[in-house]
Amino acid sequence: MQYVGRFAPSPTGPLHAGSVVVALASFLDARAANGLWRVRMEDLDTERMVQGADQMILQQLLALGMSWDGEVIYQSARLQNYQAAFDSLQTQNRLYPCGCSRREIADSVLSRHGAFPEGERPYPGTCRQGLAPGRTAKSWRVRVDDGDLSFVDRWCGPQSQNVHQQVGDFVLRRADGHWAYQLAVVLDDAAQGITHIVRGQDLLTSTARQQWLAHVLGLDTPSVMHVPLVIDDNGVKLSKQNGALAINTEDPMPILQAAWRHLGFYDVQASTPAQFYEQAVKQWAGRFKPV
Ligand code: GLU
Repeated sequence: MQYVGRFAPSPTGPLHAGSVVVALASFLDARAANGLWRVRMEDLDTERMVQGADQMILQQLLALGMSWDGEVIYQSARLQNYQAAFDSLQTQNRLYPCGCSRREIADSVLSRHGAFPEGERPYPGTCRQGLAPGRTAKSWRVRVDDGDLSFVDRWCGPQSQNVHQQVGDFVLRRADGHWAYQLAVVLDDAAQGITHIVRGQDLLTSTARQQWLAHVLGLDTPSVMHVPLVIDDNGVKLSKQNGALAINTEDPMPILQAAWRHLGFYDVQASTPAQFYEQAVKQWAGRFKPV
């Protein structure tokens, strides 16, 4: 089987120290396996996109010596594919419209189960049996089956989640009309023939629902590795939203070495990206087998 990996940034701004770690890990994993490394722009959330950020990201990758294989895919060009999958789930009676606001979901979960950590509130199934009279459909949710879903993460080890209980029926089409990330990512990974996903640990808890969705759609599930996030001084994930600085690719070596150290390795003796990769790819291959 040919290894096919990917880096899937959202073009909401240039790369920062956190996204470089993810790019580097996925690039090294692909090169260590003599595989392909694809880039996909996740530009569905049009309100958050920044004009020209995609080109900036691509230039930064090249400046860091990470060149991708094949065409760069844009999610915004694949809307028909998301619609087709949505339609097929619709015919399987898997979908239903939901009229709940975030506030209502949070309130009903709090009263039933007590407090959940931020972002981890399961949908309580309010609209599963149909919209209450007078309510209008906002989003569309998929009916999730009860049961544990287990997988082995190449970084974090064995994982198990009951999507029905811990997440609940999740949104595939958002209230603002955009396709949800969870749907798009599953379809895109399958369409691009991705065999191995390497990404940040913030997405570890999304994996079970993505694998479940892939099963329901009859698609293969890629193996996964979730690498540690870069955290700022306040303990928050470094992101464009909280003002992470764009990296200065005029001087690529300190950026590569910092990302490499973050992944648990010692600096390599190298003065150019090419020299760096020659050694880093070997060391990565020695530590992580691409299962
Ligand atoms: N677009 C997502 C992000 O920038 C990554 C999605 C993925 O790797 O599955 O965080």
